[in-house]
Amino acid sequence: MPALGPWWFKYLHIRNITTEYTGKAQRHTEALGILYSLAVTLLLVTGYWLLVTGNKSCHAKDHKKYVLHPNPLNHNPLDQFSLSLYCFIASSGAGSRFQVPGKNFHAECHKECLPVPSVIIHLFILSFTHLLILMYIINESKFVFVRRFSYLCSKEYFSSMIFNIQRFSTHDGKGIRTIIFYKGCPLHCLWCSNPEGISFGYSILYDIRNCKGFGECIKVESRAITRNNNHGILIDRHLINNPENLKDICPAKAITVAGEHKSVNDLLKEIEKDVPFYGKDGGVTLSGGEPLAQGKEVTSLLRELKSRNINVNIETSLHVTWDNILDNIGLINTYLTDLKHTDLDKFRTYTGGDAALVMDNLIKLAATGAHIIIRIPVIPGFNHTEKEMQEMIEFVSSLPVREIHFLPYHTLGMEKYNMLGLQYRFGSVKPVRDPEIEPYVQYAQSKGIETKIGG
Ligand code: SF4
Repeated sequence: MPALGPWWFKYLHIRNITTEYTGKAQRHTEALGILYSLAVTLLLVTGYWLLVTGNKSCHAKDHKKYVLHPNPLNHNPLDQFSLSLYCFIASSGAGSRFQVPGKNFHAECHKECLPVPSVIIHLFILSFTHLLILMYIINESKFVFVRRFSYLCSKEYFSSMIFNIQRFSTHDGKGIRTIIFYKGCPLHCLWCSNPEGISFGYSILYDIRNCKGFGECIKVESRAITRNNNHGILIDRHLINNPENLKDICPAKAITVAGEHKSVNDLLKEIEKDVPFYGKDGGVTLSGGEPLAQGKEVTSLLRELKSRNINVNIETSLHVTWDNILDNIGLINTYLTDLKHTDLDKFRTYTGGDAALVMDNLIKLAATGAHIIIRIPVIPGFNHTEKEMQEMIEFVSSLPVREIHFLPYHTLGMEKYNMLGLQYRFGSVKPVRDPEIEPYVQYAQSKGIETKIGG
């Protein structure tokens, strides 16, 4: 569907329709905002109308001299503008005279004698500023009709990139859950089991085992994809013109494209199919990638879910700015929060990120009273030693957080690295067995922390 609205709409982050209503005071502020907008709109429409019709209706004989006295060009820009606008609105015809409010002189106005270029520029600036303010009001609005307008303008722009929706999951939270996997993560953990979720754009997976050499992909992306002399194809992903060309192109499903734009409403439609199965504990889990790195689309979805009383868990690395977390506080029931390491150097080497940011966010988030479950991935060669685990458990025990889940390293995502044309650096590492984690479990329990092995 084509985008509805100018390209810069997306930078205004207009939210989707929501039925949530948070308070009276906010409603009053909005009502004033909307009244203001209507008044300015009326003023602008009048101004433009007079500008367009001015020349036709004026009876002045001498058009060469300025008859708006004193000559507005001698005034500062604000005076020029207010005199001109006042003249537009107050003068009922050629040669009308009026007292300029707040000034000790009279003006005589002929519409065609106004400094038209200056007025047009001012009107445009005012219109643009006004539009921005209007969009801000729409963005923040709790009035459904205002948001419905914004939705019409923004359907395409305000979608998120999703790479999977897993239904009827019994992992990643209590009960039966719908798991939405957002595409894009600020980290790149070397053991990540969802490598197709790390990039914020499309990812192209090629499974040579399924390739039958049909060559349909070569027809649509001939610069990037060539036939391999031995078997299958060679892909230069940098040369792919449009990944969408490759969606569903391969009859053998050897090429698949991870990533699909979904609006909040699209996601709600999917979620609503599963609502009857959630029962008392189930709900939605936002996963990824990093859901908190997705911006306001996630907040819009969370508001909608809250207004429908749907339980929400979020799987997050907390490697995002605090603002991204703050925007969603009160909309999430449980945070399933990764704690990978407390050592800054090791964290940076293995994930490309900043452990201090994660720990800082975790301290702030815990202080808000949010329900947090810490998840520690147990990764050989990275944090799988008693000393490192104890440091992490000590850190957790200093917070008002009382549950840790240990996630043993596994190799389930390994094949995807091949399919993405990436190197898997943990190829020789053996999966971690539950008994290896037992000492960490006991240490955590000795600190009064509940534990579980697995997600
Ligand atoms: S934080 Fe999670 S999704 Fe992001 S790279 Fe690490 S393991 Fe993958």
